Amino acid sequence: MAEEKKKKIISADTGEEVAAGSKKKDPKAAAPVGNATGLRVGAIILWVVAIVFEVLALLVFLGKLHINFLPSLAQIIIFLVLDLICVIIGSQLWKKANHIRPASEKNKLKFWLWNNLGVIVSILAFVPFIILVLSNKEADKKTKTIATVVAIVALLIAGASSIDYNPVSQEQQQAAIEAISGDVYWSPYGHVYHTHDDCQALNQSDQLTYGTVEQAIAANRTRLCSFCAKRDAITGVVTDDAD
Ligand SMILES: [Zn+2]
Repeated sequence: MAEEKKKKIISADTGEEVAAGSKKKDPKAAAPVGNATGLRVGAIILWVVAIVFEVLALLVFLGKLHINFLPSLAQIIIFLVLDLICVIIGSQLWKKANHIRPASEKNKLKFWLWNNLGVIVSILAFVPFIILVLSNKEADKKTKTIATVVAIVALLIAGASSIDYNPVSQEQQQAAIEAISGDVYWSPYGHVYHTHDDCQALNQSDQLTYGTVEQAIAANRTRLCSFCAKRDAITGVVTDDAD
């Protein structure tokens, strides 16, 4: 029989390795999951800057803004890429904030808006540009075609990276916090958290992170491992099969 695989356990607080079995957490150390409000403010600032870049791209396209040292098509592409970068980073901050302080399911509109705001911003950051470029009769065909294609590709990338593939509600977060008292574990590429570091679903992982349920959800592990849920007879918490 193969000897048991030694697992490295990394603290979510310090990012440092702790020896298995000697895992001790200072009870004073509150879960530093980050500041949701700060992340939201950062997201909104980046999204506003993204729209500014969209307007700049449009002004160059319309010939209302001239930067001498670059051809205008290159300027348009650069502004669209900067637009895209701001949308993507803003959306990641927003999603992180949603996993720290999720919206309540009780307010359906706010819950939907909070979970889809990044996608909405992606549309605002590219679709007006696309419509105005396509409806322009004066611009040359090559510039129009390339600018439109770049903007559509950017729109698709922005939208895909803004979708929250693991959305969580305030109610789900609260239920998990109430049902699970101790630390939980997660692997670097896993998308669930575990209540046991020796869970069968973790057999492939040499490295584990431990922290509170809040930290796990903030780290984008929004669901509890179903094996661990069964083992601890935990009910009322959202679970998932694979690690
Ligand atoms: Zn598990």
